[in-house]
Amino acid sequence: MSKIQSLRGMNDCLPEESPVWQYLEATAARVFKRYGYREIRFPLLESTELFKRSIGEVTDIVEKEMYTFTDLSEERKSITLRPEGTASCVRACEQHGLLYNQVQKLWYGGPMFRYEKPQKGRLRQFHQFGVEAFGMAGPDIDAELIALTARLWRELGIDDIVALELNSLGTPESRARYRKELVSFLEGVFDELDSDSQRRVASNPMRVLDSKDPSTQALLQDAPNILDYLDEESKQHFDGLQQLLDALGITYRVNPRLVRGLDYYSRTVFEWVTTELGAQGTVCAGGRYDGLVEQLGGKPTPAVGFAMGLERLVLLVQERHALPATVQQQVDVYVVADQKLLAHALRMAEQLRDQVPGLRLQTHCGGGSFKSQMKKADKSGARIACLLGEDEVQAGSVTVKYLREDRPQETISFEQLTRLASELADLQ
Ligand code: ATP
Ligand code: MG
Repeated sequence: MSKIQSLRGMNDCLPEESPVWQYLEATAARVFKRYGYREIRFPLLESTELFKRSIGEVTDIVEKEMYTFTDLSEERKSITLRPEGTASCVRACEQHGLLYNQVQKLWYGGPMFRYEKPQKGRLRQFHQFGVEAFGMAGPDIDAELIALTARLWRELGIDDIVALELNSLGTPESRARYRKELVSFLEGVFDELDSDSQRRVASNPMRVLDSKDPSTQALLQDAPNILDYLDEESKQHFDGLQQLLDALGITYRVNPRLVRGLDYYSRTVFEWVTTELGAQGTVCAGGRYDGLVEQLGGKPTPAVGFAMGLERLVLLVQERHALPATVQQQVDVYVVADQKLLAHALRMAEQLRDQVPGLRLQTHCGGGSFKSQMKKADKSGARIACLLGEDEVQAGSVTVKYLREDRPQETISFEQLTRLASELADLQ
């Protein structure tokens, strides 16, 4: 019988890879906490309407990337696997009254689903961490969010391979003025545009600006610049943000052609990009979306946030070998015992776990000769092997073999072993 495979673009995370994921997730969660963000969790499935209304009908996501199907309920409701988190976050906040007369600083993480062509750094089930700040209208929170991401890159050791790009999309009104000018420019060069861009001139002309086609990009050199169309307040906001970033020593490049795929952005937009991942160069993207809460039925609420793609960050961390050795190594102590002494071995292991809670200890199970047990101990990556034979049990001691150091084996008491184990646990 043929074996069943996973779906295309939906990866397993194997035990060899999970340490780098855990390291990334723990580092990010710690940084979010240090900036006062609290975690929120919401379902993977939402009503399709939520995404249509927030992301926008003429976006890649809603047009062709959503996993949408009919629920089994009597209403035959259309439901969708979440393609991103912001919409659900706003929905949950509104539903539970979290935005009423207060600011909220929230983060979330987990799988997102988009029907895309799978390739390196682009999957159908991928993972994001997102951060959203509600109720603050000024550039200060935009700058702090960016500082948070910059700190995370430093902690992950990838700050020298990512760069910040910044733009302002103004307000819906100023954008409408710009859009009109852009459309007339694009109509003038219509025949020379790539076919995707031609289609977008009518449906979503702003998206032409981030066309990947080189000849379209060359034509866009002469396109009107969105920053020339900003209203006074948006201009001040953008200037204010740049001053704050300068004061924080965060370098950036203003890129007037940076637009985001989703409809709901206003004013600040930013992306952290890398040249190390080919076409999948954006590792973190976000911006301000002051209109979205109202668009989803709430009161007007300023909001700003970002999402980062974990698959791409994992690739960067791996590329940098930025992973501390102790994260890769999963076992500190490996217990090797005479088969007749298994009860002693298991009991000693339990006592050691009681004494040293941080210890990663593995008792050899499944039988085998002393030699084969020692091979397993070495392969486990453990720093020491604890050998238990008749002599040791008689004397209430244990023989320690140092697997990573050039040091002779020694027979020590359980108390000495506890101290040694504590030292190993502290190394992590
Ligand atoms: P792209 O232009 O690469 O398609 P996007 O603009 O669609 O990205 P966002 O919706 O802004 O992406 O999502 C934020 C981040 O999530 C991206 O910058 C990227 O790191 C990650 N991401 C988005 N789609 C995928 C995917 N299919 N696979 C892996 N990561 C993804
Ligand atoms: Mg996309």
